[in-house]
Amino acid sequence: MTDAADLHRRLFTIDTHIDTPTASLARADWDFGAKHDFATDRSQCDLPRMEAGGIDALVFAVYSTQAARTPAGYAVVHEAALQAFARTHEVLRRNSGRCALALKAADGPRLKAEGRRALYLSIENSYSLGRELGHVEKFHALGVRMLGLTHMLNNDLADSSTDPRGPEWGGLSPFGRAVVAECNRLGIVLDASHASDQALRDLLASSTAPVILSHSGCRAVCDHPRNIGDDLLRALAAQGGVIQLNALPVAVVLTPEDGRTAALSDMLMQLKDAVLTPEVRAAAGREWHRIEAAYPNPVATLEDYVRHIEHAVAVAGIDHVGVGCDFDGGGGVTGLNDVSEYPNLTAALLARGWSEADLAKLWGANTLRVLEQNQRGRTD
Ligand SMILES: [Zn+2]
Repeated sequence: MTDAADLHRRLFTIDTHIDTPTASLARADWDFGAKHDFATDRSQCDLPRMEAGGIDALVFAVYSTQAARTPAGYAVVHEAALQAFARTHEVLRRNSGRCALALKAADGPRLKAEGRRALYLSIENSYSLGRELGHVEKFHALGVRMLGLTHMLNNDLADSSTDPRGPEWGGLSPFGRAVVAECNRLGIVLDASHASDQALRDLLASSTAPVILSHSGCRAVCDHPRNIGDDLLRALAAQGGVIQLNALPVAVVLTPEDGRTAALSDMLMQLKDAVLTPEVRAAAGREWHRIEAAYPNPVATLEDYVRHIEHAVAVAGIDHVGVGCDFDGGGGVTGLNDVSEYPNLTAALLARGWSEADLAKLWGANTLRVLEQNQRGRTD
């Protein structure tokens, strides 16, 4: 009998989407090196829990709420992103004995061998670039190796899968195409989670390196616009890309429409022309919590999550599937609700007959391959 805990520790493990830089790290005096508890402060990631959960690497996303596409709107959100990178670098400096910034595919396994955790950096919603192509290189210099095109609304790069107004560009915009070429040049992995189906199709056709869905699900298992259908899943695999399964409850299990979507749409439409000053940001946060309380998340379990993984493997193949739980950003299911609980997933899959070789691909090898291929594809 393979011991699940031993096996989990041996594997190189990575989760490709976690929002800690704009969640816990934005709280005053919140110590990433100390143990916290979801029940107490809703946080899902810190170093002690990473160590307990045998997770070797995480992709830390610097997230931006979609708001006004005006010079003032861009300036405020770009500055907020720079602050999030600065505080993340400070956390890395303060905990350098236990974790370090990872820039290349090989850095993750190297840091594991050193007994340290690897943190890669990404952005979620390229709104924070403004309309400046040069900001891609600026973010690359800060350590960004993965770039998410959109969030819940259309932006200057691409259409979102959830914009209540429908498509604006019919996929990628001209600026979006320029950013794709720039990311290919620099070796940054392009991330189409949240993007519309047509934006993903355009990306698959235009990117010279494999793309990622850092936190997405399967529409055949849960028909949510954030998830992707089997045809696109096959196209993603054919391009060499990977889907990393999301643990966001409303995208894991089908939820009866109870007004949540309308309430979220109203909130998004109110924010779309706002400049994200600290006051606007705080008000948006309060409104988000009000919606979360009024329309509670469905109960989703580890078994529900596993259903997405196994469907993706059946459709795309074992070389194109991984883990992206969206912790600190709304993700988490019963049995997999913070970074300390990843061993439960290994145990569940082992119990279902998964081999060590397949678990190694799911947990890390597929993501490392995509990182490596993007790095190798650098054209500058
Ligand atoms: Zn997201």
